[in-house]
Amino acid sequence: MINVQKLSKSFGDNEVLKSIDLTVKEGEVVVIIGPSGSGKSTILRCLNLLEEPTSGEIFFEKQNITAPDSNIDKIRQKMGMVFQSFNLFPHMSVVENLTITPVKIKKANPAEAKEHALALLDQVGLKEKATSYPANLSGGQQQRVAIARALAMNPDVMLFDEPTSALDPEMVGEVLTVMQDLAKNGMTMVVVTHEMGFAKEVADRVIFMADGIIQEEGTPEEIFDHPQNSRTQDFLNKVL
Ligand code: ATP
Ligand code: MG
Repeated sequence: MINVQKLSKSFGDNEVLKSIDLTVKEGEVVVIIGPSGSGKSTILRCLNLLEEPTSGEIFFEKQNITAPDSNIDKIRQKMGMVFQSFNLFPHMSVVENLTITPVKIKKANPAEAKEHALALLDQVGLKEKATSYPANLSGGQQQRVAIARALAMNPDVMLFDEPTSALDPEMVGEVLTVMQDLAKNGMTMVVVTHEMGFAKEVADRVIFMADGIIQEEGTPEEIFDHPQNSRTQDFLNKVL
């Protein structure tokens, strides 16, 4: 579904990504781990072209999205993204947060969009909050709304950048559970997280990044139980 070839990204003379190759298959859950500043967010942001790669190519559903003539808006509609900060529209109710983009951008029928939104809120356990405003929700609830909002566009892949890092500890679980359910239902996901328990349980493949390159990748068992690379071993010793 996603195929990244020789992706490099520099900010000025800071070479943050150094010729990354990466493939994500349909239905696969890929978890990216690594130290702060290793380029994890930059990879995700390049995948949906929030950052412009310095060089290299990214294919999404067989289409070269880094080609000059690619339609970035169309591509982004198929990639849901969830950030550390929830970024809900504060002046809109929860259900309006979910319907605004499908109705405005995809010209969805408002009644159908609302029905879909309510089904998604049910899926993330927040149907009773449909008419609430973001300010009246907990962080965990806001993040679940943010996930539902991304799903409202019917994306083919979901990108998560540390979705639980800004949450109080007691709210991390409810968000991870929603993500785990999504994975079970076959959603293709790329997840940057420090939640090693989630990575172990949910990932099909774990990628360890450091210094702008993929140092090691493998199944959760390979990475967590038998890391080969000394950088991976050092990192896991610090975080586990
Ligand atoms: P963290 O775990 O702290 O989120 P990360 O692995 O996501 O780290 P990135 O955010 O991808 O790391 O940043 C990698 C490097 O790129 C850092 O040195 C950062 O300062 C630099 N960087 C990221 N975005 C920009 C930007 N817009 N302009 C300049 N430098 C940037
Ligand atoms: Mg980051």
